[in-house]
Amino acid sequence: MNRVIVVGGGWAGCAAAIQASKEGTKVILVERTDMLLGSGLVGGIMRNNGRYTAAEEMLVMGAGELFEVTDSLARHRNIDFPGHSHASLYDTLKIGYAVERLVKKYGVDIRYKCRVKDVQMEGRRINSIITDHGEEIEGEVFIDTTGTAGPTRNCVKWGNGCAMCIFRCPSFGGRISLTQLAGIEEIVGERPNGIPGAMSGACKLFKESLAPEIRRDLNLKGVAIIPIPDRIRGQIVLDLNQKVCQQYNLVDFSHNIILLDTGNAKMMTSFFPLEYLRQISGFEKVRMYDPYAAGIGNSIRFCEMAPRYNTMKVKGVENLYCAGEKAGPLVGHTEAICTGVLAGYNGARYIFGDKETVLPSSLAVGDAIAFANRETESQEGRRRKYSFSGSAYFERMKELGIYTRDREKIAERVYRSGCFGIFGNPNI
Ligand SMILES: Cc1cc2nc3c(=O)[nH]c(=O)nc-3n(C[C@H](O)[C@H](O)[C@H](O)COP(=O)(O)OP(=O)(O)OC[C@H]3O[C@@H](n4cnc5c(N)ncnc54)[C@H](O)[C@@H]3O)c2cc1C
Repeated sequence: MNRVIVVGGGWAGCAAAIQASKEGTKVILVERTDMLLGSGLVGGIMRNNGRYTAAEEMLVMGAGELFEVTDSLARHRNIDFPGHSHASLYDTLKIGYAVERLVKKYGVDIRYKCRVKDVQMEGRRINSIITDHGEEIEGEVFIDTTGTAGPTRNCVKWGNGCAMCIFRCPSFGGRISLTQLAGIEEIVGERPNGIPGAMSGACKLFKESLAPEIRRDLNLKGVAIIPIPDRIRGQIVLDLNQKVCQQYNLVDFSHNIILLDTGNAKMMTSFFPLEYLRQISGFEKVRMYDPYAAGIGNSIRFCEMAPRYNTMKVKGVENLYCAGEKAGPLVGHTEAICTGVLAGYNGARYIFGDKETVLPSSLAVGDAIAFANRETESQEGRRRKYSFSGSAYFERMKELGIYTRDREKIAERVYRSGCFGIFGNPNI
């Protein structure tokens, strides 16, 4: 049968599906909504800080397909904003269609509006998944890329209520974890104050609802930074500690509204009370795009992560792999793509009876996968999030000397690690 079933069509699931297909397996990608990319539909920031290094490593290892798409749809390249250098911003309005075309080009069978709600197991092996419609789909290997966002009950319990975000749980049914269905106890991420999960750290505004001078800055430079008047800052609480994205937990982000042009205006704060936002010059007519109620809150993520090995195999199930947010507190599109590729690769190797691969820690991608895994062992570690783009993990990259923008150096390092072209034809 040689069949890999990928559950969840975010960046991690798309990467896993493409890679498993490149390895010669038949792949079915099951997605609960009617669109691919999950939170990738409202993100857009790539190649900032250490994400540049990680993306280039993946290109040299031969898994550059998705990075080529995000690069080709960049509205802005090489831009700087507080704490972040050389970022590119893909167009969130165009990315979904482009990725769907690519995934289909690799022969992946995409099943939309297909939410997994049960599994059939034999001992420690999954035989098949069962969807909401009662369909049973058999496979030899399963990859859990269901993410960690929501479901609504988490956003209500650990957040400010369902703010109606891109995950659209009331319409498609909330996220269901494949790992949990397989009977595995998951790891609960926390905020620094011990509350489970973390709140998504950005929301989107309709660019058309902003003043012309802000729109002009966004269109020309990709960034607009608008100071928040003291009068307003004194009246609202923008607690950056509760954010998922600790790389943006910097004073600039609480003293200013930082907007990035990703098609919409991406506002780098979890939420902002609309009545106060509209008192700021240029925002008088502002409308929220995602979440629809970003005046009060945002999605809650990282309540449930799978215990795993550095091969991306889930501990306790023989034929289950995981990637993306499900695989631990590594946050971001780049991070989801890197782990997704490795899960797809090792899932296929398992089917063909080949030894699974762990990426070496001389590479940023290998080190991050192992580091994030180790960190989930302590409570302190579970209270942090990791990303190539900032905070604790980017500091580590700099300390270890693995952060660089020198493409030749990166290619040489990958070559020396023995990983040159392991995932396909290197693009150098
Ligand atoms: C508002 C916001 C802005 C962000 N901005 C950025 C950014 O600019 N740059 C960046 O690098 N990162 C950003 N991130 C983080 C980044 O988007 C994520 O870390 C990463 O994309 C996660 O990918 P994933 O595939 O693991 O999960 P997800 O994107 O959550 O995808 C999981 C998918 O699984 C599906 N699913 C869940 N349960 C089931 C089921 N039972 N059956 C079938 N399907 C199921 C979901 O519908 C979803 O499509 C942002 C996140 C958010 C929420």
